[in-house]
Amino acid sequence: MNKREFLKLSSAASAGLVAFPLVSSLLGCSSANRDEFTLPDLGYALDALAPDIDAETMSIHHGRHHAGYVRKLNEALDGHALKGQALEQLLMSLGPDDVALRRNGGGHFNHSLYWRILTPGGGAPDGLLLNRIEANFGSLKKLEGRLLRAAGTRFGSGWAWLCQGDENPEDLFICTTENQDNPLMKRRVKRTGRPLVGIDVWEHAYYLNYQNRRGDYIKAVLRRINWTEVAGLMA
Ligand code: MN
Repeated sequence: MNKREFLKLSSAASAGLVAFPLVSSLLGCSSANRDEFTLPDLGYALDALAPDIDAETMSIHHGRHHAGYVRKLNEALDGHALKGQALEQLLMSLGPDDVALRRNGGGHFNHSLYWRILTPGGGAPDGLLLNRIEANFGSLKKLEGRLLRAAGTRFGSGWAWLCQGDENPEDLFICTTENQDNPLMKRRVKRTGRPLVGIDVWEHAYYLNYQNRRGDYIKAVLRRINWTEVAGLMA
């Protein structure tokens, strides 16, 4: 986080608006100088998630799809009133006509989250996150079942999400969105929330390896969730 981001957060926090850092700041996808967004590093090798997610899929997905969203986001912001906003605030402030910003800003945020919450190692949630999962869903297994069903039944391209309620941080909930929409976008979801887990169910995320077996891909993603990172995104 640079000084400008920190000051912005501090003033928002003191005004009682933001109690915790923005997810986009934690993900490092808000760009260092706020002028241009940049493609974040994966944080692991392209083949680190194989065989669950193969290196060629990762290479195309990160290096071409995500890079394309970043490039088009910067183009859409050229001369736009929202230029200079942190990515998360930008997505929360979209107007009805901001189609290119929504698609490409969403694409940048969603993929930055997706890379971060995957890990070669896997693991299990503990502490506060596990407590909240058990309070809201009964168990990790039940949460995984709900995510599998939500992601599996999302028609066409989109995402499945585990979110934290805006009003009450104890509330966790699951939702899905179409295309590159996400739960930050007030005009696009029934209930907004802080995204903690995002599962990409666009065919480009799995088709090379899984073809039409979306369920097998979702199960593979669930085995690779980095619950430590997820806990770190929680407010
Ligand atoms: Mn994708």
